[in-house]
Amino acid sequence: MRSAPARPVAAEAGAYESDEQRWRAVRERDDAADGSFYYAVTTTGIYNRPSCAARLARRENVEFHASLDELHTRGYRPCRRCQPGEPEPNRPHAAVVARACLLMNAAVAPPNLDDLAQSAGYSRFHFHRMFKSLTGLTPHAYWTAVRAQRVREELIRARTVADAIYQSGFTTTGQFYAVSSAILGMTPQEFRAGGAGVEIRSAMAVTDTAPVLVAVTANGVCAVLEGPEQTARARLAELFPYAVRRADDRWFEARLAHVLARPAALHPVDALLPRDVRQVCRHERIRQLLRIHLDPASASGSAPDMAMA
Ligand SMILES: [Zn+2]
Repeated sequence: MRSAPARPVAAEAGAYESDEQRWRAVRERDDAADGSFYYAVTTTGIYNRPSCAARLARRENVEFHASLDELHTRGYRPCRRCQPGEPEPNRPHAAVVARACLLMNAAVAPPNLDDLAQSAGYSRFHFHRMFKSLTGLTPHAYWTAVRAQRVREELIRARTVADAIYQSGFTTTGQFYAVSSAILGMTPQEFRAGGAGVEIRSAMAVTDTAPVLVAVTANGVCAVLEGPEQTARARLAELFPYAVRRADDRWFEARLAHVLARPAALHPVDALLPRDVRQVCRHERIRQLLRIHLDPASASGSAPDMAMA
């Protein structure tokens, strides 16, 4: 969280020239590759966009194609999930919502929903509904998620806790302390001290788009980190070098899987939104679900069969 994750090199234009690069994009469900090529699965006769959220096919059954005509000539049918080659019905809405999100990413003060709606040419009601349907969050929830992410970064960088609070867009320290546990899972002092004295439980979860490492304390979620397990765990250790981190936490892993598997638990975030916006939305949904369904008090307990949700 010290800095925004770098975009993979493969996201640069013209970076899908070899099958190896294309396969990597498919494995990473890299939406920056959408439009550059399609991949067809020989065993199912279906073709997909590189970012398709469907289960990954085996490499030996995958072919890459640049042209829809060629795919159709060979008898491949489009995937119903990612609808390759279809015009994208959400595109104008996605542009409006993306603009609002980018405005909030850059804002220091809480944005006014009426202004956001008006500047996009929608009524407050329609704007709200459109935003929620594309992101899974209300505009207000998005704003608080952005501010929370900022304060987590600032707490590491800033000279004092108060500096971090004000630089992140909180208007008073009281406003921050009212939500600090939910944002940090610990006190800001503990957070700045690398989690010294704090016990952290963590587990990998599988989401539609990417593997995610979720870490909690007795007071709430302390980190949601995307990436392969080894990378995410290294990042967690970097953020909280002095915390007591439980290894191989099967109990928490099962609880996490249970919470995230609830029907409609992870509202799909529209694939047309910018990558960093989608990441904020996904992580905030995970945090929301854990706040609702995972009682932190019992998460700190060690009883393996304690019911939580
Ligand atoms: Zn697909």
